[in-house]
Amino acid sequence: MKIHEYQGKEILRKFGVNVPRGVFCPTAEEAVAAAESLGGKVWVVKAQIHAGGRGKGGGVKVAKSLDEVKQYANQIMGMQLVTHQTGPEGQKVRRLLIEEGADIKKEYYVAALTDRATQKVAMMASSEGGMDIEEVAHSTPEKIIKVFVDPAAGLTDAQALELAKGIGVPEASTAQAVDTFKKLYQCYMETDASLAEINPLILEGNGNIKALDAKFNFDANALFRHPEIVAMRDLDEEDADEIEASKFDLAYISLDGNIGCLVNGAGLAMATMDTIKLFGAEPANFLDVGGGATTEKVTEAFKIMLKNPKVKGILVNIFGGIMKCDTIATGVVTAAKEVNLSVPLVVRMKGTNEDLGKQILKDSGLPIISADSMAEAATKIVAAVK
Ligand code: GDP
Ligand code: MN
Repeated sequence: MKIHEYQGKEILRKFGVNVPRGVFCPTAEEAVAAAESLGGKVWVVKAQIHAGGRGKGGGVKVAKSLDEVKQYANQIMGMQLVTHQTGPEGQKVRRLLIEEGADIKKEYYVAALTDRATQKVAMMASSEGGMDIEEVAHSTPEKIIKVFVDPAAGLTDAQALELAKGIGVPEASTAQAVDTFKKLYQCYMETDASLAEINPLILEGNGNIKALDAKFNFDANALFRHPEIVAMRDLDEEDADEIEASKFDLAYISLDGNIGCLVNGAGLAMATMDTIKLFGAEPANFLDVGGGATTEKVTEAFKIMLKNPKVKGILVNIFGGIMKCDTIATGVVTAAKEVNLSVPLVVRMKGTNEDLGKQILKDSGLPIISADSMAEAATKIVAAVK
């Protein structure tokens, strides 16, 4: 789960990280009053969307007068902000953050993330903050310093110092940088984040270290113990079909292809997508209906898949273990009738009550194409959509 920058900064502030003072504005009209309440002579108007690269896309503007605050707030609010993370269609800006301006002497990068290869938390830092870290990693990987944290020991002083020295923090600010890194690590651990990133982390003219941006991803499996983080969820920023699917406890992810697939079990769902690709087509979604799918759940799954106008055919691949094939067959038939299925449907079923399931499909009178093996199923659906 992702959150907005202003929410990320609230969390960082709670953990003692130095962040700029700011006011969250759900409407552009509030921007000037927000700037006035902050005081000072320079403000930053920042689009709040769940994607990075806002600066380059025109979603972050430095205002030198209240008139400029007003002008930028009106300009940014409601814009379709396109960044390298939003895709070409962009993301509509519905919320703003107005902050006091910062005196930037140097921009750094720092992040805590889950490193699957070492099974540890990696703390990553770079002297090249502000820009895409992907670009730094690609062209000058030596400018990224990494330490891997032993969970029992936590981020040690020596490791934090290695990061601070490695990115060239000046002597006078080293202690504050070390402190910031340790707090970021603590924050990452205590919130069950999978990513906690500050880009840029800045050195101010007066030598202070400050977080100018905040990006968090949280582990969905740990959200049950963080109601305060769940409360930060912004459904406007999420894929509408994925939200709908989550209401029915369906694991659904939208993809770009034209073959919808409905599968039970995440591993089988991935193998099904691979098989579709192997036979020359692309899946329109990942969908795991789970072990105990009911007729209602299967019907909802069909509805969600068919909402996608790109879907030209559906492949159902079921292994009847806990789930019985006749149950899923009844679900498929009910769903196909209820949604007036108008695209080709291939069903492959294996396992418990397989024959009963196949009979139900046959007796339904629906033009369902039956298949025995995964290869046969994929061949048939790929041919049907071509
Ligand atoms: P992102 O592009 O989505 O990662 O958004 P950021 O919050 O990182 O902002 C982009 C850039 O705007 C930063 O790298 C800074 O260079 C600049 N910026 C952000 N806040 C301030 C500020 O207070 N003063 C100045 N001068 N620049 C800022
Ligand atoms: Mn940033």
